[in-house]
Amino acid sequence: TEQIPQKPEWIRAKISQPEEVQRIKNLLRQQKLHTVCEEAACPNLPQCFGGGTATFMIMGDICTRRCPFCDVAHGRPNILDADEPKHLAETVKNLNLNYVVITSVDRDDLLDGGAQHFAACIREIRKSSPDTLIEILVPDFRGRLEVALNILSETPPDVFNHNIETVPRLYRAMRPGSDYQHSLELLKRFKHLRPDIATKCGLMVGLGEVEAEVIVLLNDLSDYQVDYVTIGQYLQPSKSHAPIHRFVSLKEFEHYQAHGELLGFKNIWSAPMVRSSYFADRQYKGEPVP
Ligand code: SF4
Ligand code: SF4
Repeated sequence: TEQIPQKPEWIRAKISQPEEVQRIKNLLRQQKLHTVCEEAACPNLPQCFGGGTATFMIMGDICTRRCPFCDVAHGRPNILDADEPKHLAETVKNLNLNYVVITSVDRDDLLDGGAQHFAACIREIRKSSPDTLIEILVPDFRGRLEVALNILSETPPDVFNHNIETVPRLYRAMRPGSDYQHSLELLKRFKHLRPDIATKCGLMVGLGEVEAEVIVLLNDLSDYQVDYVTIGQYLQPSKSHAPIHRFVSLKEFEHYQAHGELLGFKNIWSAPMVRSSYFADRQYKGEPVP
């Protein structure tokens, strides 16, 4: 009870299928692949691995930005591994995943922001697992928007996801190097190029925003033709990360959910344990939050 603010009882994850989880972890080590699930110590890991979804982090585990809520290391990024798309595709096939999320650190050092590498991963997975749905969760490609969008609209995923993460007022503190308006533009311009492909956007609450700001943000996402939305509680990865400003009440999460439904998103999931990739397959199918 010395913890402030106190962790409510709904912040916890159920353990399911420990053998399946271990099997996946072993395979990942063999192929030298990183998952966000493990790196970010995501509390939903047992559920997701157990249920046939995982989120892979490509292009290394070192980011060129430093968002204070994020547990990814920052610094000089790794050299791109040209074999990674093939290894990833093999792993997706071995794991028999029906839905895969591919994300990356921000690669401000690459001329295309890494878009070509994303496209290569999509192509390889399509070759060996044609029935697997692919979601990419992309960085903002600032300064490389044109080239990145051209590449990705030619080799599109099934779901194009980019996280706005927080309200514009907190961008300077929480998203140094990023720009709220730019992120909205990215989503809209992809939609414009590929109206047939779903767009998706996620944010965290509890970072210091107020309820009215989240409502405005949801209105923005709707104006920018986003199809799928995820909202979850921010959890501090360690003491050196941005502090949790508050635990958002279930009632407030429900308010966001109701507002999103009113706006007509294809699906919105607003609940404490929701993450950008949380049961992404089920969200895509239009199911309610588990
Ligand atoms: Fe991985 Fe996302 Fe599931 Fe967390 S919610 S375990 S990051 S797939
Ligand atoms: Fe983390 Fe993404 Fe920010 Fe990099 S850009 S520090 S991966 S949230």
